[in-house]
Amino acid sequence: MTHNMTHRLILRRLTAHSPMMRRLTTVCFVFCFALATVFGWPRLHRVQAQPTVAHVATGSGGAVASVDALATQIGIDVLKEGGNAVDAAVATAAALGVTEPFSAGIGGGGFMVIYQPDRSLSTGESSGAQSVEANVETSVEASVVTLDGREEAPAAVRPDLFTDPDSETGAPLPFFPNRISSGLAVGVPGTPLNWATAAERYGTKPLSELLQPAITLAETGFSVDETFAGQVEGNQERFAAFESTRSLYLPNGQLPPVGSQLNNPDLAKTYRLLAEQGVNAFYRGEIASAIAQTVQNPPVVDEPSFKVWPGQMTLADLDRYEVRIRPAVESTYRDYRFYGMGLPSSGGTTIAQTLNLLEGYDLSELDRAEALHLLIESERLAFADRGAYLGDPEYVDVPLPGLLSKDYASDRRATIPAEAPANEADYRAIAGDPLAYQQDPSPSLTGALTAASTDGEGLSTTHLTVVDADGMMVCYTLTIESTGGSGIVVPGYGFILNNELTDFDVDNPHPNVPEPGKRPRSSIAPTIARTPDGSLLAFGSPGGSTIITTGLNIAVNIVDFGMGLEDAIAAPRLSQRNNGITQVDQGFEETEQGEALLAFGHQLDSTDEIGAATGILVSPEGEITAVAEPSRRGGGSAMTTE
Ligand code: GLU
Repeated sequence: MTHNMTHRLILRRLTAHSPMMRRLTTVCFVFCFALATVFGWPRLHRVQAQPTVAHVATGSGGAVASVDALATQIGIDVLKEGGNAVDAAVATAAALGVTEPFSAGIGGGGFMVIYQPDRSLSTGESSGAQSVEANVETSVEASVVTLDGREEAPAAVRPDLFTDPDSETGAPLPFFPNRISSGLAVGVPGTPLNWATAAERYGTKPLSELLQPAITLAETGFSVDETFAGQVEGNQERFAAFESTRSLYLPNGQLPPVGSQLNNPDLAKTYRLLAEQGVNAFYRGEIASAIAQTVQNPPVVDEPSFKVWPGQMTLADLDRYEVRIRPAVESTYRDYRFYGMGLPSSGGTTIAQTLNLLEGYDLSELDRAEALHLLIESERLAFADRGAYLGDPEYVDVPLPGLLSKDYASDRRATIPAEAPANEADYRAIAGDPLAYQQDPSPSLTGALTAASTDGEGLSTTHLTVVDADGMMVCYTLTIESTGGSGIVVPGYGFILNNELTDFDVDNPHPNVPEPGKRPRSSIAPTIARTPDGSLLAFGSPGGSTIITTGLNIAVNIVDFGMGLEDAIAAPRLSQRNNGITQVDQGFEETEQGEALLAFGHQLDSTDEIGAATGILVSPEGEITAVAEPSRRGGGSAMTTE
């Protein structure tokens, strides 16, 4: 939202300073006043007040950082009204479902990490659609829990989910547009139950109350900015294929102009149904029927430009959905303690594995280019293991203790070369054998140590970070997978269905192949850390599999390179995911370090956007620094309550 708001602020400033503009304004005002007096006053339309936009905020009390100022402001208001960090996170996320509908919303899923200071939290297995209270009562002493609201494969899904039925050779459907814009790709959404579970178990306010600001926002609308307009433009062909999406986001067949007001009364109605009837309206009631109907019969226009395949999601699939409450992946890096997101997200594990490898080097003492070379090679090894072993832990036997052991890391570290591998573009590191480093040596489901994982993950999604005055912290990444998800708006309900099942691998056998009821492996990596001086740090990002490397860039920038959170987030990023050439932010190649990396034999590939992070640091004295991106994805918004 930032660009547009900045433009408006500049315009307002120009207006105030120009005598000619002032005279014009006065004349217009008098003229309009006279007209209104003669013909009657028009009914004023309430327009959402635009909050001030800043990507860094320092202060105390509580804080929110997200990609969007309206959403951040809503979270701040909840904190000021006495809500805790979970309340504010849910309200902020609901607002992002309105203003960032191509990255997040109730048609998708996500992972939330909650840090609760000086409290024991209950943790357990699941929270079902039937009742948020229903299950789970294994209470353990813990200060961090994670909520897995990942989308789930319908019961009819099989490993050949994306095999092209028209292909004689059994080839998969083309990724774009057929696979990503299909009913086949839609997983059972987890986000509504994630919000309800978070609010009921860890929040202080009912979901019905937390949805109210987003209902107002969906009704009154928001101003279309360049990022939003660009996202519609990038999806124009897909959106135009579905009646419901076309009428909402391509009004009169046109792109919504930058600066126009966009509202979504259907989404306001859907949120209101959730507020009034509870989350079961989504998993059992009229919204469930609409979702199943839409997946099975996508609302395709008369002559779509590509073939749209239906999926087989049923009411039973929606009814069966549960949020999993899982322990965090806990690890140490030097004298920091990290809490990350566990499986089915690979985020926490792959970050911890990479940091374990890096721990053997004193990066702060090394020449920066050498340190970055080691980062690249450590990422490569960790991603090799990710590709070979990680999947939904309820379906595959993942050798986690071995993968996360420091001894395993130290033996793997010995294979890191002093320079970039020859022929880097085609080079793929081979996964290690972690079984020897854990007590249970039974083989995992994969013997395919060279299994590369397909990397079709989109670069969409959104991340928000919240802290409250009691030091409760929430780090939450939510997604509908691709920017624009499946491209299919549920007719009459105003939200886009995810295409998360494209995060499955299609080459069977693989731990991450589609299976009934399985959750596709994710890269989402909301991370909370305790620093050596007792500060609390939280950060996360969207960006498909680059989420993991963005988290690593931020962690290493802070722990090893001594940067503050603002610089750690703004700094140019690099990303190696065991896929050949290393990706870097635009401009990185020309920097001193970029050039030095080339001297290590690395090839670099400049790309437009690596991540769109937010983060918060709270000192032991309660001083807060909340940070969003200065420019990636149009820049974000950070605010504190005091
Ligand atoms: N589907 C991706 C994942 O779960 C997220 C997509 C994104 O961040 O852009 O890892």
